[in-house]
Amino acid sequence: MPVLIDAMPSAAAAARPSLVGLTREELRARLIGVGVEEKKAKMRAEQLWRWIYHYGVRDFAAMSNVAKALRALLADHFTLERPEITAAQISTDGTRKWLIRLADGAEVECVFIPDVGRSGALCVSSQVGCTLTCTFCHTGTQKLVRNLTSAEIVAQVMIARDALNEWPTPERPLNDGERVLTNIVFMGMGEPLYNLDHVAAAIDVISDGDGISISRRRITVSTAGVAPKIRELGERTGAMLAISLHATNDELRDQLVPLNRKYDLDALFAAIRDYPGLSNAKRVTFEYVMLKGVNDTPAEAKALVRLLKRIPSKLNLIPFNPWPGTAYECSDWETIEAFAAILNRAGYASPIRTPRGRDILAACGQLKSESVKQRASQRAKASAE
Ligand code: SAH
Repeated sequence: MPVLIDAMPSAAAAARPSLVGLTREELRARLIGVGVEEKKAKMRAEQLWRWIYHYGVRDFAAMSNVAKALRALLADHFTLERPEITAAQISTDGTRKWLIRLADGAEVECVFIPDVGRSGALCVSSQVGCTLTCTFCHTGTQKLVRNLTSAEIVAQVMIARDALNEWPTPERPLNDGERVLTNIVFMGMGEPLYNLDHVAAAIDVISDGDGISISRRRITVSTAGVAPKIRELGERTGAMLAISLHATNDELRDQLVPLNRKYDLDALFAAIRDYPGLSNAKRVTFEYVMLKGVNDTPAEAKALVRLLKRIPSKLNLIPFNPWPGTAYECSDWETIEAFAAILNRAGYASPIRTPRGRDILAACGQLKSESVKQRASQRAKASAE
């Protein structure tokens, strides 16, 4: 079973911590901590906020409307550094993946998936590893797990915008139509609803209109089905909801998504129906991974349609992405198309999600695999020396 551990800040990070990723309140507290008058801290935090999150500056010297003395004080105590990128890859289809090392040495991945036209989604991680052990997902085989802080979640967005060169300058504004990174999906490593406090705080930062300004309607949080937290997610974040469903009956779902033994389909669907603001304009996305001979019959497609009846929903059929050591296989293409045709007839438009970034192991359920393998082999090598 994976073990949940707490983050341990490194000595270097503790000495001159980065302000990147902090919430407004955290920023204010940091300013007061280095001697900024309490009365002025709020206003100063607002100024910093705009430089950090609207312009993405990496140097206090660039903050032209901040007094020189304060800039110097800030530079003495803090940095605007992002976590270290230990590997950056670009797929033949344009998908980009970054492996990011956090202050305590833990690593997470995030993936940018450009869409047709100018839009694109960033897939962010909410935990290092995952405790859920879904049998078809590689991330669940990782042993050590910890929650990311909200700053570590926000930092993933900062890193992507750096790489995409998407920060405006006072001379060169960024119009909405020019954005490349338009959407955020919490579909990377981890279960976001086991880390709701930090996910909610990160969404507050990412959606803030004076900063990164990606609207809550363009932020989707995916869960394997932590039923008691679903309503709270909606109330606290206003984000779009996605459910990793994968099976239409409890017997099979118990096997694929062990969390189902705790919150079965009845409990899950009661929570989904209760999601605030559900409407045709705010639909739930259901993800369904296509596993050969496991969940891919026409009868199951029909059961899926029945299950989703009267829930404003979208469907995403995800061709299974294999990983080293898995016993599952991806359904045949004809099987997926036959399955999709049934959903199509029931009114679900183009439900098949094309796998992206498979060549760089950036596709769903493949995250972290390479780096874990590499580290394991490095460890083996080190212990042999
Ligand atoms: N824990 C959350 C967030 C992770 S989202 C959740 O389960 O929703 C990652 C998505 O990729 C989930 O829908 C997951 O079921 C799916 N997935 C995992 N492994 C996969 C694989 N090998 N192939 C295709 N999809 C996979």
